[in-house]
Amino acid sequence: MNIKILSRNSHLYSTQRLIEAAKKRGHHVEVMDPLKCDLVIEKRKPSIFYKGKVITDTDAVIPRIGASVTFYGTAVVRQFEMMGVFTTTESQALVRSRDKLRSLQVLSRARLGLPKTVFTNYSKDVGEVIKHVGGAPLIIKLLEGTQGLGVVLAETKNAAESVIEAFNGLQARVIVQEFIKEAGGADIRALIVDGHVVGAMKRQGKEGEFRSNLHRGGTASVIELTDDEENAAIKAAKSMGLGVAGVDMLQSSRGPLILEVNSSPGLEGIEAATGKDIAKSIIRYIERNV
Ligand code: ADP
Ligand code: GLU
Repeated sequence: MNIKILSRNSHLYSTQRLIEAAKKRGHHVEVMDPLKCDLVIEKRKPSIFYKGKVITDTDAVIPRIGASVTFYGTAVVRQFEMMGVFTTTESQALVRSRDKLRSLQVLSRARLGLPKTVFTNYSKDVGEVIKHVGGAPLIIKLLEGTQGLGVVLAETKNAAESVIEAFNGLQARVIVQEFIKEAGGADIRALIVDGHVVGAMKRQGKEGEFRSNLHRGGTASVIELTDDEENAAIKAAKSMGLGVAGVDMLQSSRGPLILEVNSSPGLEGIEAATGKDIAKSIIRYIERNV
């Protein structure tokens, strides 16, 4: 098969592993920078030009589209779809996953456990927002944050008010969320491929840190999911329409709560923690569908 990986950087661990896994299984594989694709649209004949050459004979694409290039990257994936090419991440699902508000609404509709969350449009009534999530301590998240930056634990009502007002004053949009204390500074990442868990790890924040992000000094270890956790992760990926997903969950006294569903999950942490060949699972997913 001819497989294209849509990635801006061919040296990234995940991209390298996907190249390796595809070659090992006898496929021809190339990395394409989605921002260097020209999309030609005319009646019934969509085509893609890459560095001046028309792209032909592609059987499947693996989108590894960063958040900052979602708009153009999605258009490239959609163009491949219009050409009848299989994609491990559909363009619609990619767009959906990048909108945090819409994602939580989709997960809620699928009856999945979620930390109670409030979105507001710079509400003046901060006290009311705080009441909705059961008061302090609570979590405030910058809508644009990643890797745990912009996630704040406010221990008291006063602290929560100050932080929300400060963010509002900066015109930075936030979500306010119930703090799940019993998660103990840990979360679970489940990697889903084609409706199955292919690897799961628990990330534990360093001493005194409620954020478990590896970038914030957290450590990862392999974990056996409970049936509830496994079902929740699979259902979360399915409701988002993602064939490949990294589902982040908190363990709470009322069962697993979904934090986020990642449409371009990194492979490094999860492969290291589990010892599993997740890149191979993704290539085999393609083989079953082309
Ligand atoms: P990011 O997408 O920037 O990583 P997250 O929403 O995943 O932000 O939050 C970062 C970390 O903070 C999570 O991995 C988790 O450990 C912790 N965390 C986030 N939300 C909550 C919450 N509502 N209750 C308890 N801990 C949380
Ligand atoms: N961006 C990483 C991933 O999607 C998360 C790394 C972290 O936990 O800090 O796997």
